[in-house]
Amino acid sequence: MPRYEYRCKTCGATFEMRRPMSQSGAPAPCPQGHGDTVKLLSTVSVGGTASAAGSAGPAPAPAGGGGGGCCGGGCCS
Ligand SMILES: [Zn+2]
Repeated sequence: MPRYEYRCKTCGATFEMRRPMSQSGAPAPCPQGHGDTVKLLSTVSVGGTASAAGSAGPAPAPAGGGGGGCCGGGCCS
């Protein structure tokens, strides 16, 4: 059963609840009894495999040879 994290807007406490996914949007009462809570985005339930997809593109500006070294500045003679 997935675990969801909530934060109470009344007292600021965060708490976790295990509940079926179908009830993930249902209101979750604060342990202190407050009813005004919001569901936080869960970052632990899904593995982090999506982060590498965006960074493996072609290099935008390959440094030609010296990479800003001396051959472009005329100090190689
Ligand atoms: Zn509360």
